[in-house]
Amino acid sequence: MSATYILVAGDARIGNLVATAVGTSITAVVVGDRGVAEAVAASGVEKVVWLGDPGATPLEAFAGQVAALTAAARPDLVLAPSRPADLVLAGAVAARLSAPVYTMASAVRVADGAVEIDRSVFGGIARETLRIHGPVVVIGDGGEVGTDGGAPIEEVTGAPATTISVIETLPPEHAPVDLSKARRIVSTGRGLKDQGDLSITARLGEALDAELACSRPLAEGVGWFRRDRYVGVTGQKVTPDLYVAVGISGQLQHVVGARGARVIVVINSDEKCPYFGEADYCVVGDLYELVPALTAALTEAN
Ligand SMILES: Cc1cc2nc3c(=O)[nH]c(=O)nc-3n(C[C@H](O)[C@H](O)[C@H](O)COP(=O)(O)OP(=O)(O)OC[C@H]3O[C@@H](n4cnc5c(N)ncnc54)[C@H](O)[C@@H]3O)c2cc1C
Repeated sequence: MSATYILVAGDARIGNLVATAVGTSITAVVVGDRGVAEAVAASGVEKVVWLGDPGATPLEAFAGQVAALTAAARPDLVLAPSRPADLVLAGAVAARLSAPVYTMASAVRVADGAVEIDRSVFGGIARETLRIHGPVVVIGDGGEVGTDGGAPIEEVTGAPATTISVIETLPPEHAPVDLSKARRIVSTGRGLKDQGDLSITARLGEALDAELACSRPLAEGVGWFRRDRYVGVTGQKVTPDLYVAVGISGQLQHVVGARGARVIVVINSDEKCPYFGEADYCVVGDLYELVPALTAALTEAN
């Protein structure tokens, strides 16, 4: 039977990965406290190798040790959840095994000495299936764990690569925004020319009692919005009753994030803009004239 290793850094949610590797011999290597090791032991894996309580040492500091003991077992397949510390472990293991790493996996099959992976590509707008011979590291969604397994836990002494400890942890300045629950959204794109003009779409948002969102360049590029406010394949997925896209061209990476909206209104000066092909209402014109006029009409009607 082929061997699978699952890497776990501080969070036991690996249920989907365990399901993926059923039929292989699964060992989980756990960095984290005893509770995490016990939850993983109950998840359907055959064995847990636990590096002991890390105390104040960041989990990433154990990456070298995780890589050494995983590589020594020569597994055919190494799985890890797509979470920051797990990715560090996965990178170290891949380097040690000289193995390729494939991200965004939705399904993995092990058969006839080969590993087959289904995964998203091009930022999530297409899917490919790969067949690989030789060790491979695959990153996928973790998923909740079951509770009916009872694998033995083997404790090995954790040996972090460096002496490092967390001396202070502060909460984020702003609570993250969950746009997936918003019923109305006004979303701004690069059609807006200046940061000072953001009040134009903000006022429309106010008149509609809507959350504010944006296309990725306004968050990742110019930083006019926080990163948790952009919609799209790499941003938030939203399902409001109303999505008003102002000065957004409608590239696939953006529109897939808002396809769950019940009504889509697109305001754009280019009558050929691709977003009009997806919109319920297409408004052709200059946002600098249209949006204030619309806001004034809504305010008067309210
Ligand atoms: C791997 C990958 C992942 C990505 N993920 C995302 C994602 O999750 N979300 C996302 O948004 N993007 C994403 N992108 C970027 C995406 O491809 C586009 O570049 C981006 O969505 C374009 O943003 P935009 O529509 O605001 O800008 P532009 O494409 O520049 O469009 C601006 C629009 O404004 C219109 N306009 C200009 N002036 C006016 C005016 N005065 N009045 C009205 N309209 C006007 C123009 O006609 C144009 O249609 C991703 C790209 C890659 C490669």
